[in-house]
Amino acid sequence: MTDFRYPSLRAVVLSSAGQDLRRCSHCSFCSGSFDSNGDTDITLEMLLQMVIMNDDEVLTSRTVWSDHVFESARHACANGLDMQAVLQALRDEARRRGLVAI
Ligand code: SF4
Repeated sequence: MTDFRYPSLRAVVLSSAGQDLRRCSHCSFCSGSFDSNGDTDITLEMLLQMVIMNDDEVLTSRTVWSDHVFESARHACANGLDMQAVLQALRDEARRRGLVAI
């Protein structure tokens, strides 16, 4: 669901992390680039799609909060997007919106 009180998630990622998600070519490389260790609910490619669609449910997805994904994400994109920076921006935005307690 989209909450119109806040800037779009794509704009948040661009301003906070400097990552322009329009560079995603939907190649699916990131989705298979590491073992998810069972602590994800969506792939990184799906995560990017939710950000682009401004679906704020992405902010509470297990994938965003998975430390295993976070540690593996910096070089997960074949197109040079820094996925770790994207995840950090989403975590920060979730905290700003009061969606998580930590
Ligand atoms: S690897 Fe990068 S370009 Fe390919 S789908 Fe994932 S985020 Fe998009």
